[in-house]
Amino acid sequence: MKLLYDNLSVNEQGHLTVGGIDTAELAAEYGTPLYILDEDVVRKNCRTYTQAMRRYFGEDSAPLFASKALCVKSIYPVVQSEGMCVDTVSPGEIYTALAAGFPPEKMFFHGTNKTDEDIAYGVESGVGYFVVDNLNELRTLDRIAGAKGLCQDVLLRLTVGLDPHTLEAINTGRVDSQFGVSIDTGQADVFVREALGCGNIRVAGFHSHIGSQIFESDSFVRQIDILTEFAARIERETGHHTGILNIGGGFGVRYTDDDPQMDIEARIREISEHLDQKCEEYGIQKPVIYMEPGRSIVADAGVTLYTAGGVKEIPGYRNYVTVNGGMTDNPRYALYRSQYTVLNASKMKEAADYECTVAGRCCESGDRIAENISIARPERGDLIAVLTTGAYNYSMASNYNRVPRPAMVMISEGKARLIVRRESFEDMIRNEI
Ligand SMILES: *Cc1c(COP(=O)(O)O)cnc(C)c1O
Repeated sequence: MKLLYDNLSVNEQGHLTVGGIDTAELAAEYGTPLYILDEDVVRKNCRTYTQAMRRYFGEDSAPLFASKALCVKSIYPVVQSEGMCVDTVSPGEIYTALAAGFPPEKMFFHGTNKTDEDIAYGVESGVGYFVVDNLNELRTLDRIAGAKGLCQDVLLRLTVGLDPHTLEAINTGRVDSQFGVSIDTGQADVFVREALGCGNIRVAGFHSHIGSQIFESDSFVRQIDILTEFAARIERETGHHTGILNIGGGFGVRYTDDDPQMDIEARIREISEHLDQKCEEYGIQKPVIYMEPGRSIVADAGVTLYTAGGVKEIPGYRNYVTVNGGMTDNPRYALYRSQYTVLNASKMKEAADYECTVAGRCCESGDRIAENISIARPERGDLIAVLTTGAYNYSMASNYNRVPRPAMVMISEGKARLIVRRESFEDMIRNEI
């Protein structure tokens, strides 16, 4: 049987295995719902980026792991040992990375509305680079860094006016966007000039992120066109050379068999060739390139295991399979109608011919994981596996309906270890007086 990813297989008992481990054993030991994260897959994904980026963009180029995709302490030593920097979007993410021992100088601090307290926290923590979103933030950062007698390295976030044809909610590169400052409107020129005049800010380069779950490479190529043209003009007019160009994240991953297989190395080569050509055309020195993959580092390393509650057959309508989790541990269907591959992990040798909709446990008709799919007909107690849940699942999880967040295990070389304990009822009322 061909499964979506190479680390998945089926054993003699007809159980799904992840990284060589029987999902039934994981469920018995750690309970369900359970997030499983395959460290070996995360490392492989990191290496795809680090190797291709060094090879095509140069030795100083590096990928940053976008923390928001999966912010747990245990991910940081993994990405650090693979030579990645990290991208954070809030003091909470910085705190988590610091708590894991990640070096602050390798952190980039994003965010469209950093409060004064956030800015002070970032500066005091010694984050390597702020990615400054707007003029208000720029002025506040200059003031706060100045009061501390520091000069803060920054990238300036630009919007390139591109529509990468992804989902509305994760499309960030258009002029009409709450992120960054637009090149098209001329506001980016004002932004850069003011930044260059700030006494306590050093402009290290520019940043742009066009969206997420993008498969086509022409969006990235057009982004390079716009950014290099802008960098060349700024250099001509102000003498400022762009040292770093951070071109964001956004490479797509396969959630189902219908999604294409993305060749990350080939895309990086394509982008790099285009960059070389444009830098030559505009007569600028090639900047150091950073990328910020989140999804494509952790998504395919993750599997969520649920226990089926049973099936409900509504004659003339459809069949529902309910699971002991749902939108609380994976809100992506409710938010974006995201498609997933769902398997009956207990009956992998049986025909996957039972048409059903997999629904969660919340009092919410939108609480679904997948609609109108086919799996082996489950019985109460069967394990239901949802693939490609390593990104934006745990990090978006909630306690809606007072459902505790699941535990997470990291597996590597055939062994599992608990990295996030299952939330208890006590945990959920901890802050309540
Ligand atoms: C979300 C985000 C990323 C990561 O995007 P992926 O699609 O997960 O690779 C990178 N940079 C910024 C600024 C983001 O907002």
